[in-house]
Amino acid sequence: MKAKLLRNGLLIDGTGNEAKHGIDVLIEGNKITAVGTNLSVPASYSPNQVDIIELNGRTIMPGMTEAHTHLAWQDAIYIQDIDFKPIEETMIGSIKNAETMLKSGFTSCVSAAARGRVDIALRDAINRGQILGPRMIANGAEVSATGSIVDVHPNHVRVHGLSFFADGEDEVRRVVRSIFKEGADLVKLNVSGDGLVPHTESESTLYTYKEVRAAVEEAHARGKRIYVHARSSESVKISVQAGVDIIGHADYIDDEAFDMLVENKDRLFVVPTLNYLVATLEHGPAYFGQEAIDASGYAEGLEIAIRNMNRLYKAGVRVLPGGDFGFKWCPHGGYARDLEHFVELVGMTSMDAIVSATKYGSQIMQMEDQIGTIEVGKLADVLVVDGNPLDNIAILQDHSKLNVILKDGEYIVRTLEVSRQEKAV
Ligand SMILES: [Zn+2]
Repeated sequence: MKAKLLRNGLLIDGTGNEAKHGIDVLIEGNKITAVGTNLSVPASYSPNQVDIIELNGRTIMPGMTEAHTHLAWQDAIYIQDIDFKPIEETMIGSIKNAETMLKSGFTSCVSAAARGRVDIALRDAINRGQILGPRMIANGAEVSATGSIVDVHPNHVRVHGLSFFADGEDEVRRVVRSIFKEGADLVKLNVSGDGLVPHTESESTLYTYKEVRAAVEEAHARGKRIYVHARSSESVKISVQAGVDIIGHADYIDDEAFDMLVENKDRLFVVPTLNYLVATLEHGPAYFGQEAIDASGYAEGLEIAIRNMNRLYKAGVRVLPGGDFGFKWCPHGGYARDLEHFVELVGMTSMDAIVSATKYGSQIMQMEDQIGTIEVGKLADVLVVDGNPLDNIAILQDHSKLNVILKDGEYIVRTLEVSRQEKAV
């Protein structure tokens, strides 16, 4: 077995505890086995079995989790682009995106939908060590009603693309069952509309309680979960009532929906995908024209989302980063920008933004006892950052500052020198 000794770092351990200077972390095999000051190399190792890395005060923190991932979306402008891309090219692009995500410091991700079996094949190939990528909660195609946000083709054209269409409880059950049959860990349902899609509105609700409940029953019967696209207040209420596990967006919640989220905060996660809104407002006019962006209501929607995320955060609801990356104007690799939005827009402390990406990330991954914090016994998903993200959260977006990325104890990135000890003590 090989060991790594990270020496003299600023430890942000992911628990929310105060950062500590002058900390060493020992990693043996794929596990963190000691955290403390002036650690020495265990005598059982010969010197060439131990990498010693001097950090000189650089930050040690847990790998992060991206909680609204679409590895299958690549440089898309329209939903149609995702639908029409042949599955073979989609798969190759997804493999590349998985590597990009890992090399961005995100060692885990929760998919918010893919196409076909792309996520499932990716997850399995990553777990077998065939390709590089984050730990994955794999999704299938989206499940949507006729007329929903992804039903973007005329009625005389049916495309087997990013969505399976299902109307009514029975069809929802059949489609959800078919996606779980193929090996998905969770299924995504589009419950609300979306302002950028001309025939829907963000505040509209396009699935009924019974349809959502049918999906939840099928998922929970298999020990699996349901993720929803839910911008409207009604869609959030329906979803919480039906027992959905992960709420995407939740921008337009009213007081009643807010109370329901707070009441269920121990079992629910909210992933607002703020960067998607910010980036669409920034760059969308170049693709869709200013008129379409104005009509989307995203400008007002972002303000409302920020206010609601602030009050959910203050009420202790777990709000996680995940930014719908994969559209042309919010490309893969920029994932950490969502943490900056949490600090600059939502009003989180930098420490809480990091906790949401690490500790809460491990909870949404259902791996809380294995990842998410730098503690003895945890798997070594570890970042070394050249700088202090507590002073400047945006530093996490600069890949050149990610000096070391470890996943499961293996180097994914290492730009710092390794030294050997003459003789173990
Ligand atoms: Zn999405």
